[in-house]
Amino acid sequence: MQVKGIKTFAKTLGILLLAWLLFLTWRYYFKASFGTDYPSGGRLTPSQRAMDIRAYHFDIHVKPEEKKLFITLAIDLRLPQTPPDTMLFDFIDGYSIESLVFDGREVKNYFYTNNRLGWLPRTEKAPRRDTRVTIRYSGIPPEAPRPPWQGGFVWDKDSEGYHWVTLACQGEGGKIWFPTMDTQTDKPDSLTMSITVAAPYYVPATGRLRAVDTLGDSLRYHWTSRYPVSSYGINFGVGRYIPLSDTLNSRGPQTVPAFFYSLKEDSAENVFLLQHLKQQVHVFESLFGPYPWPDDKLAAMQTPYLGMEHQTLNAYGNRHRYEEIDGHTVDVLLLHELAHEWWGNFISTADWADFWLHEGFATYSEALYVERIAGTTAYFDYMRRKMRAIRNRKPVIAGKNLSTTEAYNGDVYNKGAAFLHSLRFVLGDSLFKNMLYHWATDSTTRGGKTVVTADFLHHVNRYASAPQDSLFHFFLKSTRRIEVHVDSVAANRYRISLPGIHFPLPLQVEGSSGARKEIIPPGGLLMESIGYPMIDPDDWYYKKETVFSGGQ
Ligand SMILES: [Zn+2]
Repeated sequence: MQVKGIKTFAKTLGILLLAWLLFLTWRYYFKASFGTDYPSGGRLTPSQRAMDIRAYHFDIHVKPEEKKLFITLAIDLRLPQTPPDTMLFDFIDGYSIESLVFDGREVKNYFYTNNRLGWLPRTEKAPRRDTRVTIRYSGIPPEAPRPPWQGGFVWDKDSEGYHWVTLACQGEGGKIWFPTMDTQTDKPDSLTMSITVAAPYYVPATGRLRAVDTLGDSLRYHWTSRYPVSSYGINFGVGRYIPLSDTLNSRGPQTVPAFFYSLKEDSAENVFLLQHLKQQVHVFESLFGPYPWPDDKLAAMQTPYLGMEHQTLNAYGNRHRYEEIDGHTVDVLLLHELAHEWWGNFISTADWADFWLHEGFATYSEALYVERIAGTTAYFDYMRRKMRAIRNRKPVIAGKNLSTTEAYNGDVYNKGAAFLHSLRFVLGDSLFKNMLYHWATDSTTRGGKTVVTADFLHHVNRYASAPQDSLFHFFLKSTRRIEVHVDSVAANRYRISLPGIHFPLPLQVEGSSGARKEIIPPGGLLMESIGYPMIDPDDWYYKKETVFSGGQ
């Protein structure tokens, strides 16, 4: 090979190596954020949209030694007036289907490929509108590579060597272990789960425990819920759990059973957490209304992974890493997941593009709790911390009909929370709190509602003195940041302006005569002060450094 050829070859090799390294870096970063092989959400097919799932009835046998599930799932369905030409469920590949009975008849010619299970209904006789499909299947579900961010089942052992099985699948949806619609817009109205395990294992699950049957050397736990629930919120665990129990005196009309499902080795510490949880509920009930699931329970379940908002069974794996906030001990993880009972479980987003409706609200709820227990200064400090964590690389809402993977990033928490903080300033304290309370409680349907950001905007506009569309757009759909300019225009006279912001924005301005809330019109505001005024001294906004100019 000639020298020139060798050089060209070396150069090409260098470029290829660099490209490979870049790919590996990208892949690592992608996986480390919220990458999953089974992203959830996006669009349903028209035939899926036409169906309505009314109830799931699970009969589950868990075999931890084989990391295997044996499931019979009956799904009660309401079909549209004109039956769909294809029945289609989201269900990842890899399970063995033993039988499928639809509308009372066994279906042999189903197809099960590309993470979908489907069949063509009979053409000679239309199925009943209220009908049922029963699917018997078994298999090894995906193991979670990095729960809860990359989810699946976690087949762990406790310190005494007993099985400890848990599940987290927000990023993936329930389709990784049962046939479902991969959307939050079609929650079932109710749920039953019978879960059989070897004695003496305990099975906490979604809903309320109705009975435990002994079948030889097995135990069967019967759980039911009469509330709608997201597919990723349907959850259970298997372990040597001790159900620490108490009662929550809810603001609602009834008392609520409260549990902390604890491993034996941590039960002393978890007795404290159960009390802490109840106290957190009292604060949230005063802010957002009664605990949403009184017929089921209030509960947290110890997990080997950090946490997740499973309805009536929040995962707790924070290992008692408490924060001391002005002399108050707070388990922020427990608090955050609890907030999701209102924001995420009760009020759910229809489109993962609006992830902030779960995470921004839950994060902001932490700050409201801190304010309640530790006061205003602690609240502002907490929000400043959240604002410092904003990365602002892409908008909080980065499109429409997005999957979990496309939509998820840290700003849905921190910038989402910062936006609610700003909105509180814009509306004023009492209107904002009233607005927030009613966002949770104005539900026409039992068990909450499924919404998008436009619904929240519509709700906010009912409370605001002027439409807040531009504010929503600026903070949630762009990465632009407020930059305040303060120009000295004459002795003791200043012009405050917000370049690039074409809507009136209230701003806290503190001049020599004190602090005021001023609406800054698009053309700017003139004010008198001896010396430059301070702008937004409490940091109600996520913004750039204020630019002071003009000689004095
Ligand atoms: Zn969260």
